[in-house]
Amino acid sequence: MAAVSADQNRAGSLPGPRRAVILLGPPGSGKGTQAQRIAQRYQLPHLSTGDMFRDNIRRDTELGRKAMPLMERGDLVPDEIVLRMVEDRIAHPDCNNGFIFDGFPRTLAQAENLERICRRQKFGFSVVLYLAVRPDLLMRRLTGRRICKLGGHIYNIYDRPPKREGICDEDGSELIQRPDDAEAVIRERLVAYEAQTRPLVEYYRARGLLAAVDGNDGADPITASIMKILDGAETLK
Ligand SMILES: [Zn+2]
Repeated sequence: MAAVSADQNRAGSLPGPRRAVILLGPPGSGKGTQAQRIAQRYQLPHLSTGDMFRDNIRRDTELGRKAMPLMERGDLVPDEIVLRMVEDRIAHPDCNNGFIFDGFPRTLAQAENLERICRRQKFGFSVVLYLAVRPDLLMRRLTGRRICKLGGHIYNIYDRPPKREGICDEDGSELIQRPDDAEAVIRERLVAYEAQTRPLVEYYRARGLLAAVDGNDGADPITASIMKILDGAETLK
């Protein structure tokens, strides 16, 4: 794998209007890793709805008090509450130059509402990076995942194997496959993802906000492709 170049490590800012940078892609597409890297590169906060829930609960806000019993029961927090938390969050000064989301929005209704909120908060159009990955490659990445019992260190038996089979290099503990990463479960996760996310992809594509990124490569070439798009962000819609 190629080393991340010095240029990729250099911090800068997103040219053009401040925007939401949204990463879309199936489980195993590496969007979490990419979101972290571009957050660093463009000095944008990497937002997660999970953090927002926890923060609102900790501060005992009205929204937190509504969300807490639902989360404790394992129920879905309704969009109305989630979107109000998002709007509060992106009004914070650390979002003055934009922000990054991966894992949100998940549905068409959330996507439409997020665009509405961004307009209201005087953000430009979102830039949506869609990491497209071949299904066979996704299966390989996901079914190959192994996690160490002790420290949570992550391996992949195909792409990043441990030195000794089944044993963590760092701490010598046993490597296990999470039940979520079993092949049958992964097929279900991918089918669910397709059903839920495909309409989002079409929504953003129809509005000219979608930039497709070849996600079949390693993490570094994917980062390079994303930076090329974002460095030219002033020319985007
Ligand atoms: Zn370990």
